Amino acid sequence: MPIPTETVGSLPRPMKLQEAYEAYDQGQITFEQLQAEQDEAAEDSIRRLEQTGETYVNDGEQRESSFATYPITDTLAGTGLAENMAGDGQYFAIFDDGHHRQLPRLTSGPFRYKNHAAEYVEKNRQLTDRPVKQAVISASMMMLLYPLEEEIEGYPREQFLEDVVDEVERDIRRCFAAGAQRVSIDFTEGRLANKNDARNPWTGKDMLQEFIDLNNRVLDRFSADERRNIGVHTCPGGDMDSVHSKEVPYEKLLTKMFQLNAGYFLIQCASEDDKEKVYKLVGDNSRDDANGVPQVCFIGVINPLTPEVETAEEVKNRLVTAARYIPVERLGATDDCGFSPFSRDEKPRHGSPDFARDVAMQKIRARIEGARMASEELGV
Ligand SMILES: [Zn+2]
Repeated sequence: MPIPTETVGSLPRPMKLQEAYEAYDQGQITFEQLQAEQDEAAEDSIRRLEQTGETYVNDGEQRESSFATYPITDTLAGTGLAENMAGDGQYFAIFDDGHHRQLPRLTSGPFRYKNHAAEYVEKNRQLTDRPVKQAVISASMMMLLYPLEEEIEGYPREQFLEDVVDEVERDIRRCFAAGAQRVSIDFTEGRLANKNDARNPWTGKDMLQEFIDLNNRVLDRFSADERRNIGVHTCPGGDMDSVHSKEVPYEKLLTKMFQLNAGYFLIQCASEDDKEKVYKLVGDNSRDDANGVPQVCFIGVINPLTPEVETAEEVKNRLVTAARYIPVERLGATDDCGFSPFSRDEKPRHGSPDFARDVAMQKIRARIEGARMASEELGV
């Protein structure tokens, strides 16, 4: 079988859509008007992905406040925030360029999603005949909505975690029920968990194993056949063309991450200085049999944070080298991250989000063509 390819999830939102989000936050347009802009950008994303030849298409998360907050708020500024949340939660991440993103804070139980990702799948299925993928957020990210130290009165942490696991399971099951063929779980907090950033207390609490165990509570509710199409994405962040945890030694994550009983992984690598070290870590640690399912390792061959477009030849060479360390039947190709995981992203290194959208399509084409060339060279 040729080397498969898959996107992580997001595409830059057109400036027009970003302005509509702002206008909605300021009460200048209605939710219906915002949705009309989202729908237009979503359809454009799907049409353009179809033209690249991407196997699984999606809307590039045009309708989501962000990859992490879509279940609980309609916009990043907090318009439509779930009732039992406040805006002043933990930092999700502080990025290398100094900007940060903050999570809401749960103020009372029970924890429930107000939006499920399946609603995007339903809309996207009406726009295309191609197979559809959807990214969802992890239980471990949702865990950070609960105060780090204190307990919420009347809503113990363990009850909260049980509710989180239920909601993430429901989110995934509804995506499949709505017709998604692939569902990947965003796990950007995995590498960040070892950062020990004093400005961001949770990153100093050595929570990686706790994160993995919690996410496995979700994954273990699915059969091996279902988990074949449930992936996990890891990266050092990707927002405003900046990262949050690239300096954390990758082996700290990659020696543990494959404990997750997922059927595939979307693994940032193109932006690593020593790519072969990553291929080897992935080859050494990924499993042929994760409770009944082989772990297919999609290696990041495209860097979404730079405007320079990788060539198909570069992509091919990376995959051929990776195949020395990772069995080719468990090798795939992906991008290092979504192209814009947050809805407000000016893509500063690109100059504009509209240009970045064009660049993203060129990069995706290079990935697909490079994977085809590598498959040919490897005889698969
Ligand atoms: Zn990512």
